[in-house]
Amino acid sequence: MPVSIDIKTKSQIEFIDITSNIQQAVDRSGIKEGVCYVYVPHTTAAVTINENADPDVIRDIITRLNEIVPLDGNYRHAEGNSAAHIKASIVGSSETIFIEAGRLVLGTWQSIFFCEFDGPRSRRAMVKIVSG
Ligand code: ZN
Repeated sequence: MPVSIDIKTKSQIEFIDITSNIQQAVDRSGIKEGVCYVYVPHTTAAVTINENADPDVIRDIITRLNEIVPLDGNYRHAEGNSAAHIKASIVGSSETIFIEAGRLVLGTWQSIFFCEFDGPRSRRAMVKIVSG
């Protein structure tokens, strides 16, 4: 069974560092060598891995995504959140991280970010850890 991580987003668009939540799931699994899959079961949210050191990197990603996919556009989807759907597809719904010695293998500057594009909402990320 995958582990489900509850996430409460506070803004319409924000990236939330969930690395410690994912590492906690790895710790609880007891698996020392393997693969960790993070999957976001939403159509207007996503997951990505990027820099955690300079918060301007995430701000720049969000700014540029908003330029590429503006909130108001000539969209047909009646719910009014097409921009969020498009951003979610651009960023993607899953990440794969290796596990070595019980730790997520991430570069010095990398974190795993939950990406909200249509908040605030109650969300979740799913984590599946496979030994091997
Ligand atoms: Zn929609």
